[in-house]
Amino acid sequence: MAKRILITGAAGFLGSHLCDRFIKEGFEVIGMDNLITGDLRNIEHLIKEKNFEFHHHDITKFVHVAGNLDYILHFASPASPIDYLKIPIQTLKVGSVGTHHCLGLAKEKNARILIASTSEVYGDPQVHPQNEEYYGNVNAIGPRGVYDEAKRFQESITMAYHRFHGLETRIARIFNTYGPRMRLNDGRVIPAFIGQALRGEDLTVFGDGSQTRSFCFVDDQVEGIYRLLLSDYSDPVNIGNPHEISILDFAREIIKLTGTDQKIVYKELPQDDPMQRQPDISRAKKILNWEPKVSRAEGMKITYDYFRGLSQDELQKREH
Ligand code: NAD
Ligand code: UDP
Repeated sequence: MAKRILITGAAGFLGSHLCDRFIKEGFEVIGMDNLITGDLRNIEHLIKEKNFEFHHHDITKFVHVAGNLDYILHFASPASPIDYLKIPIQTLKVGSVGTHHCLGLAKEKNARILIASTSEVYGDPQVHPQNEEYYGNVNAIGPRGVYDEAKRFQESITMAYHRFHGLETRIARIFNTYGPRMRLNDGRVIPAFIGQALRGEDLTVFGDGSQTRSFCFVDDQVEGIYRLLLSDYSDPVNIGNPHEISILDFAREIIKLTGTDQKIVYKELPQDDPMQRQPDISRAKKILNWEPKVSRAEGMKITYDYFRGLSQDELQKREH
């Protein structure tokens, strides 16, 4: 019989790609989302699948699913700085109360649960690259604290359910991931630069652009999550692409990729913006036998071609 999996945040960027993958692997998938930052267009192609059903639900309210469940992937949460600064209380609630509901459901159904944590648990890191042993450097009361602390609490309560209730839990610390279906106006640097390129606007680099990030293509991320879920490892695992670049150099790459002659303009650096970020993926390599396969050049071309291929109407609809 097909395994049954609940995916929260199913209409979002990562959630929708995970739905695709688990349907492809023969699972029965229940997608759940309240559409606060997601978009039904991301999963509309799945509605006709007999193994897919969608539940419109806010997981900060009690979560109920009829029948058995084998797995839960808990991905519901605003994920871009613009989103979580706009809805800070919802962000705190979905990471805390929402996670509590998902863990309770997992316990009730005797299901294994994987939670989507983040490199933001390391805050503005003073250890480089970041490995899972590092405790992080987070400003709890700064504007980004609503996301970072929600995710740290999420990890904590997940480990408590694991230790106290013996629940099978997995923690993915996801580093900046990109690809088709991101929201062009979600404020994250890749959709921001691509949107600006498509509209012929200047590229906005925050600060002097010397801060670094390491970008992982979505297919690699999904593969890492898939392997982690099916592994027997319950401590956190970094999943990301270690290939690091400064934001200024990345803006220059975008200008080359798009073949445009846009200018770079500099804007104020947001408070607590991490200065350096690069995952140490030794643990994922060892435990999951996983490492990213898609180079930034390949992944960015796929992503740019995807957005370029959308009609004006579709582009506007995706900027909700
Ligand atoms: P996204 O905004 O595209 O997707 C999040 C989804 O969760 C949306 O569809 C949204 O409507 C839904 N959601 C939010 N609150 C909800 C609630 N209370 N009830 C039900 N649904 C709710 O973001 P994403 O990039 O796909 O991120 C997905 C997950 O991965 C998040 O938990 C995020 O923290 C984590 N993550 C993502 C990245 C990344 O680079 N994309 C990096 C680190 C962690
Ligand atoms: N950034 C930028 N211009 C933009 C959007 C973002 O220079 O238009 C910078 C941002 O300050 C950060 C980096 O790009 O240093 C990555 O930002 P993003 O929001 O994508 O991810 P996060 O900061 O959560 O890693």
